[in-house]
Amino acid sequence: MTFTLAIVGRPNVGKSTLFNRLVGKKLALVDDQPGVTRDLREGEGRIADLRFTVIDSAGLEEATDDSLQGRMRRLTERAVEMADVCLFMIDARAGVLPADEVFADILRKKNANVILAANKGEGKAADATILEAYALGLGEPIRMSAEHGEGMGELMDVLRPIAEAHEEKAAADAPEVDVDVGEDDEDAPRVPTRAKPLQIAVVGRPNAGKSTLINKIIGEERLLTGPEAGITRDAISVQQDWGGVPMRIFDTAGMRKKAKVQEKLEKLSVSDGLRAVKFAEVVVVLLDVEIPFEQQDLRIADLAEREGRAVVVAINKWDVEDEKQTKLKELRESFERLLPQLRGAPLVTVSAKTGKGLDRLQQAIMRAHEVWNRRISTAQLNRWLTGMLEQHPPPAPGGKRIKMRYMTQVKTRPPAFVVMTSHPDLMPESYKRYLVNGLRVDFDMPGTPIRLYLRDQG
Ligand code: GDP
Ligand code: GDP
Repeated sequence: MTFTLAIVGRPNVGKSTLFNRLVGKKLALVDDQPGVTRDLREGEGRIADLRFTVIDSAGLEEATDDSLQGRMRRLTERAVEMADVCLFMIDARAGVLPADEVFADILRKKNANVILAANKGEGKAADATILEAYALGLGEPIRMSAEHGEGMGELMDVLRPIAEAHEEKAAADAPEVDVDVGEDDEDAPRVPTRAKPLQIAVVGRPNAGKSTLINKIIGEERLLTGPEAGITRDAISVQQDWGGVPMRIFDTAGMRKKAKVQEKLEKLSVSDGLRAVKFAEVVVVLLDVEIPFEQQDLRIADLAEREGRAVVVAINKWDVEDEKQTKLKELRESFERLLPQLRGAPLVTVSAKTGKGLDRLQQAIMRAHEVWNRRISTAQLNRWLTGMLEQHPPPAPGGKRIKMRYMTQVKTRPPAFVVMTSHPDLMPESYKRYLVNGLRVDFDMPGTPIRLYLRDQG
């Protein structure tokens, strides 16, 4: 028994594009399925190991008569009734339009379980809409690009608990069977009891020691499982308790090992690491102590930051280093200089080979994950903001005083904040950095990107 996801929203936001991505080639058209109107396409969707039924309510655009509005409404209502959860899609480049409000209303009236998705979210043009989208009152929007496959990891994150709840319900609803079911208990419906694993990606240049590290964590004797189906088909993951915490670890070794040409290998590991980053909550950037901070390492670390992942930097092969003190100082300096955007991220030295330092790595991962999920109350933030403004008032470019009135946290994973301010365009980057660094230090948030948005409040 799988759950059903309906994709709804006004025409042209990208519903069919997402539908096609989720369903892939095995698309089942609706005509021959009972109980579904011709306008609703239904297919079998999947993201990684998640399976579900998807309904696309697009296909309305073809209707050009006056009844379009009415039909659209009826169709959306039907889709909502058929679904366990609705993915309400808006176009992040167009902003929140009055037509979107119509759909939001339908969803509210129907009391639907809603996932808000801001599509076409690639690029900066979408930033403003993401904030506007909160005003729809449908929770935290997922920023995605159906066309480019971005945001699928986040979508998977929100769908997984729904899938689990659905399974649990199905198991509870299943009639008790008294007849002889034989000895094979495997077939009995199983209720998942496991907490959701913390998702980690281990990235780094070839030979940094990723496979060695992962094998050490999972125990030498166990082979990496995978490849997983769906969009993670090229990334390999394994689930394992580490320090008593369930974790899912993504690695890309299997694929790299298949590549033959060196140049091709480098390219593969970057795009591959990229995929792993998208699925991860915490990214471990694994560096080789003998060749740390290579171009490729910097690129992937930067990508992890831009994707908003929590980052832990691990220096591997520490066992071969003789001048540990001097080297550590040198590494910290390089880190500050080459990856200023990751300021505050933990730097841990490890030996994947001997296992030394892995407990500290595990703790750094847990902590980065905790900080990434941190929520700070509005009251605390505003007290803090007042202090920051007193200590160092914002500049008055061209005699225009920048007044900051109010601050609130709009999102976690990573933490994102909005400051209502006059003249947001005039705010120098240096002042934004002052605030972000202040947040990081005063609220003790190492190892996570922090987003700060300014919103015009006259
Ligand atoms: P629907 O009417 O909601 O089903 O929208 P479609 O899936 O037909 O998409 C409408 C248009 O938006 C098409 O031209 C798509 O190629 C485009 N589109 C869909 N997703 C994205 C995206 O993530 N980014 C961008 N830039 N365009 C997209
Ligand atoms: P990957 O390409 O990143 O998966 O790297 P591998 O795990 O295949 O390791 C590359 C090489 O580095 C192998 O020869 C490993 O034995 C070696 N290596 C990995 N970790 C360590 C370590 O902590 N210390 C030392 N001395 N060698 C290591």
